[in-house]
Amino acid sequence: MLLTMKLSDIQHMLEQWAPPATAWKGDNVGLQVGSHNAGIVNILLALDVTMEVAKEAAQRRANLIITHHPLLFHPLRSLTSNSRTGEIALYLAEQKINLFAAHTNLDSAPGGVNFVLAELLGLKNVSVLSPLTDSMMKIVVFVPKEHLDRVAAAMHSAGAGAFTKYEECSFRTEGVGTFRGTHEANPFIGTKGILEIVPEIKLEMIVPSWKLSGVVSAMLNAHPYEEAAYDIIPLKNHAQNIGLGAIGDLPNIMTRDTFLSMTKRKVNTEVLRYSGRINRIQRVAVCGGAGSELIADAIQKGADAFVTADVKYHTFQDAERGILLVDAGHFETEHHVIPAIEHRVKKFLKESKSSSKVFVTKHKTNPVSYYY
Ligand SMILES: [Zn+2]
Repeated sequence: MLLTMKLSDIQHMLEQWAPPATAWKGDNVGLQVGSHNAGIVNILLALDVTMEVAKEAAQRRANLIITHHPLLFHPLRSLTSNSRTGEIALYLAEQKINLFAAHTNLDSAPGGVNFVLAELLGLKNVSVLSPLTDSMMKIVVFVPKEHLDRVAAAMHSAGAGAFTKYEECSFRTEGVGTFRGTHEANPFIGTKGILEIVPEIKLEMIVPSWKLSGVVSAMLNAHPYEEAAYDIIPLKNHAQNIGLGAIGDLPNIMTRDTFLSMTKRKVNTEVLRYSGRINRIQRVAVCGGAGSELIADAIQKGADAFVTADVKYHTFQDAERGILLVDAGHFETEHHVIPAIEHRVKKFLKESKSSSKVFVTKHKTNPVSYYY
């Protein structure tokens, strides 16, 4: 039997891939218009929601639009048809169409905007250009030996102890724990009022901040003690597989013109703007959309070229001596992520035995045109 999917189920799947906590602090991601409980008929994907996209959704019976750019970004003072944003938001609400946006969290996700762009340019050995900081924690818990495996398994299944290529990572040290239960206690081991000395294991794992509460709940559920002792320690380590931009190597060294020609063709843009005198390109950094803030990271990590968008005149000037700086267009460097979203959503719907269909908008939502 085919099932009707709830918006919250699709949201959960997308946020496992691109956690909202990894979005830029000033961003506005997630459900923008609608209800988490809505039953989803069909889904329409677009980089931006425009009035044409909203009408296409209505026509296709798609009551969920998933976009990269948030429609609601700056705080609204009124919701009227006098503004572009207001007109679209009102139409969506009237038509009961839900709108969900995955923006800078999708830029930072493995397999998101920047990894797709790196793959499009044929880069190898791709890694994150600017890994996310202040997001990693260590959780340390003291467990009686015979309950160690159960507690560790619960924490791993909630997402603790995972690196880029390794899972179920932990460190375990044997030691001795002491406690004396008060009159109000109901100790799992020993007797209240008597000092207990128990062999315990100190179990340590790393966990990203957005998974911490789930890991703590899973750990407490699996832990036998009435009051488990645990520490949560913020780390200065970077999240290696999450962050803005991507960097990798071309399979062969290219001249500047060959690289520009290849980039123009693969990104499928009508024009490139660039500065830089470098004529030997192998290591390439990318950041879809406005990525000028990452130029220093790209140079520091040895990139010969940096492909991004929305580059200003003086930014081109400053970068001239250090890197080949290429502006390949905002829409042009980002929209390639749509097939990646489509693939994930379709796979999820199929696994969930959902009858919903997924469409990609037929409208050109790039507001920029080129005149020759
Ligand atoms: Zn963008």
